[in-house]
Amino acid sequence: YFMSREIESSIAAKDEERRKLQLAVTKLQALEQQQKQYIGNISHEFKTPLTSIKAYVDLLNMYDDDPKLLSEAKTNIAKETERLYEMVDKVLQLTALEKYDFESQAELLEVSEVLRDICGRMNGKAERFGLTITLEAEPAHIWIDRESFMHIFINLIDNAIKYNVPDGAVNLHSEVHGEQVEITVSDTGIGIPAEARDKIFEPFYTVNRDRARASGGTGLGLSLVRNLVEKQGGSIVLLETEGTGSAFRLSFPLVN
Ligand code: ADP
Repeated sequence: YFMSREIESSIAAKDEERRKLQLAVTKLQALEQQQKQYIGNISHEFKTPLTSIKAYVDLLNMYDDDPKLLSEAKTNIAKETERLYEMVDKVLQLTALEKYDFESQAELLEVSEVLRDICGRMNGKAERFGLTITLEAEPAHIWIDRESFMHIFINLIDNAIKYNVPDGAVNLHSEVHGEQVEITVSDTGIGIPAEARDKIFEPFYTVNRDRARASGGTGLGLSLVRNLVEKQGGSIVLLETEGTGSAFRLSFPLVN
């Protein structure tokens, strides 16, 4: 009645195999669920501007000699079309990421130099909103695709401007920590409520739909940013900020 050691260990191995398989199945199921939800979200998000465009077209068909309606329809159809365009563009970018060959596009970048360039490009927009951008960065070299690096920070700074308050600021800080460079993008804006922290990187998530829509937001920016960062060996977190504003911290491995 005693099991031999061999049988015992072979049973243990089988159990372990079964456990791993079960884990893989669970993961796949979660992935499938996520994908279904993503498609559901896309359809829903596309439907809203389309409904508005359709309503205006129907109205114009009925009252095509009303100049007030005509001008209102023109403005709204243009706005909603632009929004749809932005969304399709971002969805395509997200899809393209899956097959983008980051490895072959990567080059040696000096972080402080590129950040200075990015801030220079965003200064005009910040000024129009009555905001200032500051940058404090020490030299650091990383191996990364320049275009995605720029895209990441342009997106984050763009949000820091969009969700700011008059006379506010956007601050960039970059320093070397061990084998990593840590770059923080912080702002003095409206901040992100605690209950939204976990969802902020999900596609189509917006804290305040009206404010996001008014500033042309799609809720896809941060999910694109996180994808770009993680695909290239980096990480991004939303820091806990005291008082006002938000802060995102990104880390990338240094090249020595
Ligand atoms: P959006 O296109 O709506 O800006 P994002 O994916 O870039 O989409 O951001 C998702 C949501 O996160 C935004 O709608 C906004 O509610 C919130 N958010 C992002 N960045 C900031 C920020 N710097 N300050 C406050 N809220 C922010």
